[in-house]
Amino acid sequence: MDVKDAKNDYVNNEFHLSQLASVGQIAAGIAHEVKNPLTAVKGFLQLLKENHVDEYVDIAQAELNNAISTLENLLHVSKPDLEDEPFQSVSMSAELELMSHLFQDQMYRVQIIKNFTDTDAKVFGKRNQLKKALFNLFKNAFEAIPDKGTIKVEHYVQDQYIVISIEDTGVGIPQEKVKMLGTPFFTTKIQGTGMGLTQVFSVIYQHAGNIHVQSEENVGTKFVIMLPKEAELAGTGVNELALSYTEGQQLKEFFWENKNDFEKALLAHAVNVEGKIEEIQNVGNIDLLANAHRLVLYIVEGREHEMISFARAEGIAWAKYSLTIAFKLEWVQAIRRVLWDFLYNFDRLCGRTEDSFERFYVQEKKINQLVDQFLTYFFISYTEYKDLVLQKQRELVEDLSVPIIPLTGTTCIVPLIGNIDAYRANTIEDKVITHVGTLRIENLIFDLSSVAEIENEAILHFMRILDGLNMMGCKPVLTGLRPEVVKQVIRLNLPFDKKADAKGSLQQALAEFLGR
Ligand code: ADP
Ligand code: MG
Repeated sequence: MDVKDAKNDYVNNEFHLSQLASVGQIAAGIAHEVKNPLTAVKGFLQLLKENHVDEYVDIAQAELNNAISTLENLLHVSKPDLEDEPFQSVSMSAELELMSHLFQDQMYRVQIIKNFTDTDAKVFGKRNQLKKALFNLFKNAFEAIPDKGTIKVEHYVQDQYIVISIEDTGVGIPQEKVKMLGTPFFTTKIQGTGMGLTQVFSVIYQHAGNIHVQSEENVGTKFVIMLPKEAELAGTGVNELALSYTEGQQLKEFFWENKNDFEKALLAHAVNVEGKIEEIQNVGNIDLLANAHRLVLYIVEGREHEMISFARAEGIAWAKYSLTIAFKLEWVQAIRRVLWDFLYNFDRLCGRTEDSFERFYVQEKKINQLVDQFLTYFFISYTEYKDLVLQKQRELVEDLSVPIIPLTGTTCIVPLIGNIDAYRANTIEDKVITHVGTLRIENLIFDLSSVAEIENEAILHFMRILDGLNMMGCKPVLTGLRPEVVKQVIRLNLPFDKKADAKGSLQQALAEFLGR
């Protein structure tokens, strides 16, 4: 079966695709309408099940699950854009290679013959969707071969298209059924879903491709798909764009005049950010597009100083509103790429294409350096701000962790919990000394029964705090000293007795002070 000889056997592709589009539209409507009630029923069944154990409920639940997944499938192919997968360079030959390995367990009965040429060619498309289409075609081919057989896979470039053919020696498709291929739910298999080819047709259509089928009963079937080849320039990362240019225009004016195209290109590059623009505007009052223009302006005019303060402000804003840092990275990298595309096109439109390499390298260095600098300052101020917030939070927590509770007019109690390190000892000193001074406290009870551990350095510090309290005429009282802490004091050989009274427990101390 040669493609060129059998043109008339091809399924009329146009017919299929328009049919698919309308079916898709209807299906999307139906799917939405039906999915919600089904999901509700599922929920009620779940409730019912919790009370009665009934096998019918199990069956009903399984059936409903089937229905829901069928509808999800349908929704998926009829609105493939729901999956906002980015377009990227995809090597179909590499994907074909990988795909054939997925069917290793079938190799004992089906031989795969590969003939790949022009393997450098790429498609600009949705990688996962394209992979899924190849998978569906392979799966059908394997399923069509009842016993032993072969699948011939070809990959080559013809004109502006990458052509892939998958030809099996399977059961074939009766002529009258060929027209049905790609229709949702059309299947001749007992376990079939009839959704495989629907997905294939829909993806190929989405990528501006073509699909042909040629089949003969008990001989085999050949699917030929054609996908537009990615443009040479796009592959190298430089894009020729249709931008407007007026003779003698400055770079800055050029950017301004093509403002809309710039934004469009930016959004196409930063696909994950696109859906977040509004959210970021609402949450942090940050206008990403306006800021992108500003950054580009600073870069092309080499206004380093302003760019740095801009980067700092952005870093703070980003940290303040806890915006996802991944979006920022994607956004700035997109700006970098679009900026280069614009510079390339500016040079091209000025007619400066055969200019010296040297000038290019100088410019390359300058621009990339500025973008890198932007990112560096952005991240520095981002982390500085975050650190500051952390520091503030720690201070707050520390402050709360040293509560001074008045017991009587002259007696206060400080219950300490957790670990005491040098940092906390500082907080204790600060708070306690200040309070004693202002409130004229005469007795200060430190309850240490919930202190797990005190660092040696903190013990020394604590001793100095006791000295300080004594100097101020305040008598420190320690209660609930744990054996470990006492051992530490002994080991450090600290003179303890004159500094503070010690009571076995807080109750003892309270009885004494309140009883007086
Ligand atoms: P399913 O595989 O679940 O039946 P598909 O959409 O993948 O759904 O295929 C629809 C129908 O098209 C199949 O049931 C089968 O009758 C026919 N078909 C698809 N590919 C082949 C093939 N390679 N050889 C023979 N018949 C095929
Ligand atoms: Mg299938």
